[in-house]
Amino acid sequence: MSSSMTDTATAIRRYGQFIDGRVESADDRPTITRHSPVDGRELAEIPAGTRDDTVRAIAAARRAFDAGSWSRIPAMDRARTLLRIAALIRSDAARLARIEAEETGKPLRYAESDIAGSAELFEYAAGLAMSAHGEAHTGLGEDCTALVVREPAGVAAMIMPWNFPLLLLAQKLPFALAAGCTAVVKPSEFTSGTTLELTSILAEAGIPAGVVNVVTGFGAEVGAVLAESPDVDLLSFTGSTATGRAITAASADTAKRLSMELGGKAANIVFDDADLDDALDGVLFGAFFNNGECCVAGARLLVQDTIADEFVERLIASARQLRLGDPLDESVDVGPMIHADHARKVRGHIVSAESHGGRIALGGDRREDDTGASGHFVDPTIIVDVAEESPEFVEEIFGPVLTVTRFSDAAEAVRLANATQYGLSGSLWTKNIDRALSVAKGLRSGRVWVNTTIDGGPQLPAGGMKQSGYGREMGNAGFEEFTEIKTIQIREGRRQKAFPHISDIS
Ligand code: NAD
Repeated sequence: MSSSMTDTATAIRRYGQFIDGRVESADDRPTITRHSPVDGRELAEIPAGTRDDTVRAIAAARRAFDAGSWSRIPAMDRARTLLRIAALIRSDAARLARIEAEETGKPLRYAESDIAGSAELFEYAAGLAMSAHGEAHTGLGEDCTALVVREPAGVAAMIMPWNFPLLLLAQKLPFALAAGCTAVVKPSEFTSGTTLELTSILAEAGIPAGVVNVVTGFGAEVGAVLAESPDVDLLSFTGSTATGRAITAASADTAKRLSMELGGKAANIVFDDADLDDALDGVLFGAFFNNGECCVAGARLLVQDTIADEFVERLIASARQLRLGDPLDESVDVGPMIHADHARKVRGHIVSAESHGGRIALGGDRREDDTGASGHFVDPTIIVDVAEESPEFVEEIFGPVLTVTRFSDAAEAVRLANATQYGLSGSLWTKNIDRALSVAKGLRSGRVWVNTTIDGGPQLPAGGMKQSGYGREMGNAGFEEFTEIKTIQIREGRRQKAFPHISDIS
């Protein structure tokens, strides 16, 4: 393990919540301390938001929406503001990336690409704001014209996870703002830093007061109020399937619109006719990118039995070279887990996979439960011969752990890939275009990558099938999530009377 912690010692960052255009003082109120997942030192202090804070934030968003200071201005003005936000994110990228890497434990180079990707999403959404339009129907009879218009959905709540704090927020917030919504954002209690940093960027870019509000704290406190509130029109959630279910239940009384981006258990399917160098690179990246703490992680390798021995041997030799350590060290590939409980959970899965017949071919972490001072590290691990019946074949592990299972033909590969409750993404590696298309069609998941993995662009919608959720982010579909359709039907006054026997009342 490498360590370059001497230059990382920075002062603790103290934040206040952002409600109705104002950063509120956090003095004399309960706070949550974020400790470094590398060495336990204090990184940041955020307010432990209350029900009252959340109600005030929702009210501010409601007032701003109803006042029309954002929702009813020309879309071109909203677009210009989004472009200013993107430019300000870019100019502060290095600092934001460092905060992201420190709080999440992800390698700095990945944090840097997250921040650049966030700016890109604001830029893309600006384009959508400018080009959004409705439909006119003129085929309903000569005295009738109908308009189908898109209006902003209203007050949008956004509840966020910890693994890509700013990037995942940028998959929601700019699209909501482009549509004319106002927002209340609840970042993860572990990684609120970059979201709170964004608030000063929003203010500098000229977002009117109340249009974006950020309340920090725990799910049971802040998140639950967002789910229950009748003043929230739409709730967009990214996180675990278990929390998604709880939010769905809590929001039922208000029948609000929900968008759910939940867990995943993607397969990387490698056929014997693939470019095996590319496949090897992709499988490694899919499994160990972002410490394996990635909803679209290629956590399962399904490899064709004809090439399995050779491919897995090469894979193990490559994975052995991954460098585990301080994410601020540029040479590090895999950082620590987000917190001690999560590291414990990941290690528990390794033990469970072994007890269900899997064989540890690399890693197989046996660290004692850590106290924090030595970091929540889990060694990159590869477990071979993982049977379909093993819980680790179907459950999300969310760490640097890859399971390996063999298949004989395309039909079996598709069946195995689909044999989980999740349906978020999947990748396949083959040079046969017919096979690529038929397997892609067979996978029950929201995204399929062919000869690539964890790829994308702001134009491409992302989201899940099955218990990976519903709703889409990014692309035009991601914009439409934050709109309501309204149909306006106009008669030109020559309509036959509904009750011709009733004489005119004047
Ligand atoms: P989590 O579900 O534990 O927490 C997510 C957010 O929900 C946090 O802000 C948390 O405070 C809040 N929350 C918790 N309980 C709540 C409640 N009862 N009511 C309202 N809010 C509540 O998830 P996590 O551990 O932060 O993130 C990891 C999970 O997120 C993984 O399952 C991963 O697959 C998933 N994820 C999905 C996507 C996607 O695009 N589909 C992307 C990233 C992460």
